[in-house]
Amino acid sequence: MAKMPPPEELLDIKYTTPVKGWMDIRPEFRPGVFSYPGKPDIIKGLGFPNSREWKPTDEDWKLPENWREIISEGFRERLKKYRSFKVFMDICVRCGACADKCHYFIGSGDPKNMPVLRAELLRSIYRNDFTFAGKILGKLAGARKMEEDVIKEWFMYFYQCTECRRCSLFCPYGIDTAEITMMARELLHLVGLNINWIMEPVSNCNRTGNHLGIQPHAYKDMMEFLIDDIEDITGIRVDPPVNKKGAEILFITPSGDIFADPGIFTYMGYLILFHELGLDYTWSTYASEGGNFGLFTNDTMMKKLNAKMYAEAERLGVKWILGGECGHMWRVINQYMDTMNGPADFLETPVSPITGTRFNAAAGTKMLHICEFTADLINNNKLKLDPSRNGNIKATFHDSCNPARAMGFFEEPRYIIKNVVPEFYEMPSNTIREQTFCCGGGAGLNNEEFMEMRLRGGLPRGSAVKFVRDNHDVNTLACICAIDRATLPPLCDYWAPGVNVAGVHELVGNAMILEGEQERTTDLRGEPLPGYEEE
Ligand code: SF4
Ligand code: SF4
Repeated sequence: MAKMPPPEELLDIKYTTPVKGWMDIRPEFRPGVFSYPGKPDIIKGLGFPNSREWKPTDEDWKLPENWREIISEGFRERLKKYRSFKVFMDICVRCGACADKCHYFIGSGDPKNMPVLRAELLRSIYRNDFTFAGKILGKLAGARKMEEDVIKEWFMYFYQCTECRRCSLFCPYGIDTAEITMMARELLHLVGLNINWIMEPVSNCNRTGNHLGIQPHAYKDMMEFLIDDIEDITGIRVDPPVNKKGAEILFITPSGDIFADPGIFTYMGYLILFHELGLDYTWSTYASEGGNFGLFTNDTMMKKLNAKMYAEAERLGVKWILGGECGHMWRVINQYMDTMNGPADFLETPVSPITGTRFNAAAGTKMLHICEFTADLINNNKLKLDPSRNGNIKATFHDSCNPARAMGFFEEPRYIIKNVVPEFYEMPSNTIREQTFCCGGGAGLNNEEFMEMRLRGGLPRGSAVKFVRDNHDVNTLACICAIDRATLPPLCDYWAPGVNVAGVHELVGNAMILEGEQERTTDLRGEPLPGYEEE
């Protein structure tokens, strides 16, 4: 982790009203609060316009000469294309119900991180350029002219929004600030302003099928390492099918799961589960990424990256798709897929080959969440489980923003955890389920140079974890998202030290009793199981 001040210092947050009006305050680009720009060759390779070398800390951002026209035209096009965008520009009554709901405002005290004001950064230009009142009354009507400082402000604050949609839950008009952020980012892309932590994964997904750029042979090698580890721990050698034509199910999970801990332990959990069930399924080295990083760029790229998963399902001739523990993959699948690339009529509505359960909720996308699949297995007594193997664990559950708010996906993960871990405690009710607080790294903000804002944005989640740690000795934060598994460990180390992060299927893999397995002495991390600790 980059060097950070101690938590007590970061907690010195000023919520006082600034002396100057918000339109007169310029954003301060200091280390820790902004992300590095996309590399020109990557931007160019993807076909995004106006690639160039530039730095947020420079005075001159080398904008294209006609940048005002580009932005204005882009704004006009999107107002016409997206009815919701137009409505969101018009209907905010500035009631402030959303103001204190954003984790970045709570953690920074910066008024421009209030969702209402974040949207106002865009609305003020909308009023000036597209409304009669704004044209006539100017500032009196909340309008302002487009200047370079405005675009710098957009870059700062629309890349300080994780598109988590917590604010929208509290808006009486249902205004979705995340959608406003998406539009602002699309406009920024038009003048070549993007961030590398998003663009490089997009480029890798576009080239190799996964955000890390792992080639098929390397993907298989990494898989082999995990298979070896499973054999060492359980005595069972799993033999997962890869790129198998004619399998019943295609399984897709974020590539973050195969890359680093703690994600790899979740990956091992999947391998164990599918092996034990004797599932007729396949992995794909082409659709080797569930996360859709296009969501953080523009709708064209989101559509293209989503299409890959369905193209691979068609090529392999599977009946339906099973999806792993991911956040934004499920937002794209549930909220956009059906109208964007779907309906996927060449696939079938998922039916569990083990229990016979038909999942009608997935009839549109033909894609089933692994937690729905596993919860159904447990509910039908199809798994032999020994929760005492997770006896060292006192767990709580972090609802990932996207599945929670895009799918209303609350019960299945909890049901699984309660069946595989002896002790489970909920965090405070205003921090879980639909009111869950973001990990601070979503929407492509999971980078090292952004660490101060990540930790500030992670304060509400970190405080809730600390609460259950202090009151119930909770030592494990379970989650169902690969970005969470990357973002939450430093967050916990900072705000709630002593709490580990685990995927739900890591806990399942620990608890599952496999046919013919050896006596297990360690969990999937290689840590001693209860009763096997060294003297
Ligand atoms: S809650 Fe909705 S209407 Fe009220 S200020 Fe926020 S965005 Fe505007
Ligand atoms: S979507 Fe999330 S990060 Fe963005 S303004 Fe709303 S609460 Fe804040």
